[in-house]
Amino acid sequence: VACCEADDNNNAPEEVILKDSVPDFKWHILWEFVKPQLFALIGAVVLAFGAAMLNIQIPLMLGDLVNVVARYLREHSGTYVNEIKGPAIKLLGLYAIQGLLTTGYIILLSRVGERVAADMRKTLFASLIRQDVAFFDANKTGQLVNRLTADIQEFKSSFKLVISQGLRSITQTVGCFVSLYIISPKLTGLTVVVLPCLVGAGAIIGSFLRKLSRLAQEQVAKATEVADEALGNVRTVKAFAMEERELQLYAHEVDKSCEMNENLGGGIAVFQGLSNVALNCIVLGTIFAGGTLISSDEMSPGDLMSFLVASQTVQRSLASISILFGQVVRGMSAGARVFEYLSLKPTIPLSGGGRIPFHSLIGRVDFMNISFSYPTRPGHEVLKKFSLTLPPCKTVAIVGESGGGKSTVASLLERFYDPTNGVVMLDGLDIRTLDLAWLRGQVIGFINQEPVLFGSSIMENIRFGKPDATDAEVISAAKQSNAHRFIMSFPDGYNTMVGERGVALSGGQKQRIAIARALIKNPSILVLDEATSALDAESERVVQEALNRATRGRTVLIIAHRLSTIQGADLICVMSNGRIVEAGTHLELLSKGGLYSDLIRRQRAEGQK
Ligand code: ADP
Repeated sequence: VACCEADDNNNAPEEVILKDSVPDFKWHILWEFVKPQLFALIGAVVLAFGAAMLNIQIPLMLGDLVNVVARYLREHSGTYVNEIKGPAIKLLGLYAIQGLLTTGYIILLSRVGERVAADMRKTLFASLIRQDVAFFDANKTGQLVNRLTADIQEFKSSFKLVISQGLRSITQTVGCFVSLYIISPKLTGLTVVVLPCLVGAGAIIGSFLRKLSRLAQEQVAKATEVADEALGNVRTVKAFAMEERELQLYAHEVDKSCEMNENLGGGIAVFQGLSNVALNCIVLGTIFAGGTLISSDEMSPGDLMSFLVASQTVQRSLASISILFGQVVRGMSAGARVFEYLSLKPTIPLSGGGRIPFHSLIGRVDFMNISFSYPTRPGHEVLKKFSLTLPPCKTVAIVGESGGGKSTVASLLERFYDPTNGVVMLDGLDIRTLDLAWLRGQVIGFINQEPVLFGSSIMENIRFGKPDATDAEVISAAKQSNAHRFIMSFPDGYNTMVGERGVALSGGQKQRIAIARALIKNPSILVLDEATSALDAESERVVQEALNRATRGRTVLIIAHRLSTIQGADLICVMSNGRIVEAGTHLELLSKGGLYSDLIRRQRAEGQK
């Protein structure tokens, strides 16, 4: 119940705890991930650099080729094939090497990228799954999963892109500029004035368009949200005959997004048209200016060819550098989100601390003077100087108003949280000094009766309670919990797949599997957080029978949300306002005529309705 209610309750305070600010990008963490891949990365960088250098050579060689052709046209000496063979073969060789280098660096780079991403996923998951329960109260699961998926994906592609394209673009820009200068300082001078202006203008328009595109995407998301909400809550919508109104709301948002996307399309169209004109004009201008230089014999036609190709390379490289800037920013903020939780240490360490040998474990639990507020709601004290003893091998039930803190008591025993004040003791030892993995894994069996089954076989679901259990142990636990018979009635028996994609089990069947899962570790202490939703009478009887058997010889804490099942408990405690106000057996409390008999009367009245 604690976790169900948590979802409803921590919405408001969570915003206080969540940091709004964007976390910093930590280079040393990136370095830790890159280090094991360093050789492959250096290899990739070297190959990519080589490919870029060849890209600079290629325009020059093309120019040589054109010069050969021009000479042949002018002089008509020798055969054309003989003349062109040499430079053409050289050029082909260059193409081949360039192709090989490109293949090589892409293979290496994708290896580095994938391995770094896989390492990040594993490390982040390891760090997340070890966090305290309080961490999960404060952070939405969806967002955490996003960091594992979308953010790492984004980081990986930025990383690869920046290394491959960034390196290539920068090398090519610098190299081709040098070539341009060597070919013709005059023409280069002209380009240096014109090109940056154009690229700058392009970048400004580009960023404007990107902003439009982001707004349009947000609008699409808004429309989707409206549809999602309406379809997700379709019963409510129908019950209030609000179909038309929802349609209007949706149509309004869709129209807005349509308009924004049309504007964006228009912007892109104008941008494309303009840049085509500009780029073509540059070619024309270069040929015009180059022609003048050729006519005054300052340049050969081949040089002009080289110049054209090289200047196109510069243009393309500069454009891709400007796009890369955006990618760097996005990649770094994705990376920062991934790194944020990597170095976060849980406040409750999962292992370390003492253990009590099984044969000397008595199983007595004392809650002493406990005050507690949830970390997500610091101002709201759930338990106030709460004290309770669970005597060994006895069954104690806690009852009381919903929201009174009953499930919280169970959470403190499991050490999902530590009390703000006071101590929880097991056999007289503060549980904070005990090994948590031992406490949870071997001492306490927790049966949440709104149970969760994982997407695997029944066998594995029960074995979840004790990973090294043999098949025989699993079957024996299932027998104890009245589950064996119905499991065997499935064609696949214990191998039947359950969970999201498996067979649908009834509530009572799930509960019995959950009971088997808790019993398989043969716990000395059993915590039952009772189901709030009622089962049908027959299932209830079978489950109850299993529970009665399970509780024998163990210290048991029952968090009772209904009163009918706990009348046989050795002690019933009534909780109100964060502490126990009445305690005794069923009969004692009834005769006392206090809160408990009130509760009983109220539940009977509700039952009769
Ligand atoms: P009960 O089991 O008696 O219904 P709980 O122990 O579940 O009561 O809850 C006691 C109080 O603590 C309630 O006010 C509830 O809103 C609050 N609460 C429960 N779980 C959380 C949580 N994870 N984070 C913040 N508040 C919580």
